[in-house]
Amino acid sequence: MTTWNEYVERNGTVPEWPYPIRYDKENEIIADVLIIGGGVAGCHASISAARNGAKVVLTETGHAKRSGSGGAGVDHWHGAVTNPCSKVTPEDYTNAIMECAHGYSDGIVRYIICKEGWDTLLECEEMGVQIRDVKDEFKGADFRDEETKLMFAYDYKSRHVIRVWGYNIKPCLYNEMQRLGVGIYNRVVITSLLTEGGKQGGKVVGATGVNTRTGEFYTFKSKATIIASGGGGRLFSFAPEVTAAGSMANMNSAGIGHAIGWNAGAEFVLMEQTGPGRLAGFGYAPYSMGNTSNTYHGTPIVDANGKEVPWFDPYGKELKNVKERFLPSLEQKFQLGIGIGLYFYLKQYVLNDLVRDLPERIRSGEFALPLYADLTRLPELERRVIFGMMVGNEGKTRIPIYDTFTKAGFDPDKDMLQASVLLPESYQNSNFWGGNIIPHLRSLAGGGFMVDWDLKTSLEGLYSAGGAPIFGSGCHGESHTTGRYTGRKAAAYARTAPEPTVDRKQVEMERARAYAPLKQNKNGVGWKELNYAIARVMQDYCGKYKNERTLNLGLRLLKELKENEAATAYASNPHELGRTMECLSLITLGELVMHASLARKCSSVYLDFYRLDYPEMDPPEWQKLLPIKQEENKVKVRELPLDFHLKSPYASGYEENYKLHAK
Ligand SMILES: Cc1cc2nc3c(=O)[nH]c(=O)nc-3n(C[C@H](O)[C@H](O)[C@H](O)COP(=O)(O)OP(=O)(O)OC[C@H]3O[C@@H](n4cnc5c(N)ncnc54)[C@H](O)[C@@H]3O)c2cc1C
Repeated sequence: MTTWNEYVERNGTVPEWPYPIRYDKENEIIADVLIIGGGVAGCHASISAARNGAKVVLTETGHAKRSGSGGAGVDHWHGAVTNPCSKVTPEDYTNAIMECAHGYSDGIVRYIICKEGWDTLLECEEMGVQIRDVKDEFKGADFRDEETKLMFAYDYKSRHVIRVWGYNIKPCLYNEMQRLGVGIYNRVVITSLLTEGGKQGGKVVGATGVNTRTGEFYTFKSKATIIASGGGGRLFSFAPEVTAAGSMANMNSAGIGHAIGWNAGAEFVLMEQTGPGRLAGFGYAPYSMGNTSNTYHGTPIVDANGKEVPWFDPYGKELKNVKERFLPSLEQKFQLGIGIGLYFYLKQYVLNDLVRDLPERIRSGEFALPLYADLTRLPELERRVIFGMMVGNEGKTRIPIYDTFTKAGFDPDKDMLQASVLLPESYQNSNFWGGNIIPHLRSLAGGGFMVDWDLKTSLEGLYSAGGAPIFGSGCHGESHTTGRYTGRKAAAYARTAPEPTVDRKQVEMERARAYAPLKQNKNGVGWKELNYAIARVMQDYCGKYKNERTLNLGLRLLKELKENEAATAYASNPHELGRTMECLSLITLGELVMHASLARKCSSVYLDFYRLDYPEMDPPEWQKLLPIKQEENKVKVRELPLDFHLKSPYASGYEENYKLHAK
């Protein structure tokens, strides 16, 4: 293999663009169901829509075989509450989430996930994903059910989170999409939605896109469209050259799905909710450091002198042995896992963890840095399931961590893993590789498209799926599950929908907008500079603390960026063109977040949302949702009770609504 440096040295020049460039070529593709984004949600939506008889087309910025946050794997699947060993019902789980979120989540999405998460996992098993200990490697372990051979994570009593061998989950989905004849358009970044008559708020009839290798333009016509494009990880921070920059947010996570929905007039909710953004850009390679979170839950942590940091239950009782770390306390019904899109956990559901005042104990000298994960103190099966089965299957860890460390001689039977050396307060969160807490670095959390019990957005013909685009959704299994559900609903809608008619003028306007960066002066800013500038505006004017003035200034700066730097941004090839389009969408996404933040005139602990000009926390009159959309390019906000999903026009119970809509 030739390295970049060797190539340049040998040839005295950088390589030519390796693909034929055809900017002037327009392709027209017709589908019953068009899916935007080929992460696990989009792929599962394609499979579901195709199995329900639809002609399906999927578009993906990267390559759907490995793209998205779940592309490199998964090691635990949440919300499989109907599995045969689970002690938790869909109602219990949904209510627990809604209680923890103080109502600021989407009961619709959460309940659907509970009802269908296990069935969705069984589908993955049929496609070739190992979900049981078929080789009996962990026979006799506390976390294994001997009859079904299922293995559980976090709470071994309640058994609703399943450990899976998911390193190949995307290739399995990809093969199934191919088998079903899904039209897969890899390397195509979607840039806009097409609406009936070209009108904002009109029925969605397709989308436009650009191929990031050939530069070809695409017009997709569809009866139903599903946005499954993930989140907007590059909105608040951007550091692609820093190690692990994309650690938990993939580089293609640029909020285009949100932006094109907002421009088309779709309604969003909770876009003002952001959380600490400590993972993106300034952390360490995921799961590479000693820690005790997530995949490493239960791992003993020792300090530099070998003194073990104690574990406690949420009620302050010290846990004396490893076994207890995986069991709910007497006061709890069950424990919820982490990473499910919840910012806030009530004591009744939170996991056991390291002693809560670890930062103070480090400051007082009780524990000396650095800390280490000492897997040797675990029983053998617990050790092997963490550094072996889980690290070997988790996203982005099989090769970078498991393989590299093992080849370098790391042996969990003998060696310890050092934790990153952080500010003491950063040890409050047991995910030490997330890095230090930097208050202004935020990330989107919880907000997204407002959807109904069909997972349809407020626009006719437009659906959504996945971890981020839908309001109140969570992680890997949840993304598959919403994809599976919405694919089925979109296919049903497409069966009776009329042929889509696109507005040619709208297509031409988008084509001109999309190709503009190619025609600019070469001195125009590049996409990276633009992305840095957007992230800085967001950090400064819409960070953890904000007021009316900072938000309005932020909006003004984003407008100026759009009219000046972005309007003259230069792209020298199709790849840069795609990235520039993403940046233009990030500006739109930033505007959406600032408008939503302006609309909420209070502060909220539950939303981690702090308005300096409205310091009162969670006043009762503001405990509501504020759906927001554009009508004739003007921002419109309405109010909705937190339990809208169980109020008219819907039925008053979860199961009743599910039965009415799920078929
Ligand atoms: C390292 C890591 C480990 C994780 N481990 C777990 C775990 O063990 N358990 C768990 O439950 N969750 C886990 N998660 C979270 C989980 O992987 C994600 O929640 C889930 O994969 C999200 O899937 P998605 O399809 O909704 O979105 P994404 O994976 O973000 O997929 C969106 C796709 O859309 C594409 N796209 C974006 N914009 C466009 C556009 N304009 N046009 C076309 N395509 C576009 C993107 O390229 C991307 O492929 C992990 C995440 C990471 C990063």
